[in-house]
Amino acid sequence: MIRKNLKLDILAISAHPDDVEVAAGGTLLHHIAMGQKVGLLDLTRGELSTRGCVETRTHEAFEAAKRLGVEVREQLDLPDGFFTDDEPNLLKIITNIGKYQPDIILTTATNDRHPDHARAANMVVQAAFLSNLIKIKTLEEDQIQETWKPKAIYHYNQDSLNKPDFVFDISSYIEKKFEVVCAYKSQFYDPLSTERETPITCKLFFEAIRGKNAALGRTIGVEYGEAFNVVRSIGVQNLFNLL
Ligand SMILES: [Zn+2]
Repeated sequence: MIRKNLKLDILAISAHPDDVEVAAGGTLLHHIAMGQKVGLLDLTRGELSTRGCVETRTHEAFEAAKRLGVEVREQLDLPDGFFTDDEPNLLKIITNIGKYQPDIILTTATNDRHPDHARAANMVVQAAFLSNLIKIKTLEEDQIQETWKPKAIYHYNQDSLNKPDFVFDISSYIEKKFEVVCAYKSQFYDPLSTERETPITCKLFFEAIRGKNAALGRTIGVEYGEAFNVVRSIGVQNLFNLL
């Protein structure tokens, strides 16, 4: 699914395959339906997941990408659980920001149960800043890295119940979101599975996600919502565009 010179409107950069689908799948579906170009970049292949092997995880990730309708999904293959915030890894993220020139970056929560999430969020913020510096050299030889400055970075809400800075209305996309998430068959509830139980394989996990989306929707007067945090202030040009 790798394409060169594809300009994206939104690039979601996540620690693991399935992070963005669970946390912000409805938001992605909304923007794709609006005709915007969306891509996914996974730092790891989720190879430490309790259930499923890496081949299964990868197959499921690309099936989820197909169901979402994104333009591209790439996986950097950094080590799940152990990737480090260092120059070579930041350069890999910078390379992809320059390559896809996203106006908006969605990324992981700044604090969360899984330690990879906050580390990834911090790396993405650094990479987005560094990607606009002309003297940064990326790892690929014979390739001139174009500088690029994304307009905004939004951190999607994951396991931790961080107080959102805004809630996005996903009421029209809640069922489609679960169709996308169900592409990760090995990761969620399967009564026939003999593999070990985890917090996301229990029967109630989908209900918990739906309930969280419903509770968030209620806070803005709609059926379902997804929550985001943003470090900089959000600018508004028309008060009537706010719910
Ligand atoms: Zn994750």
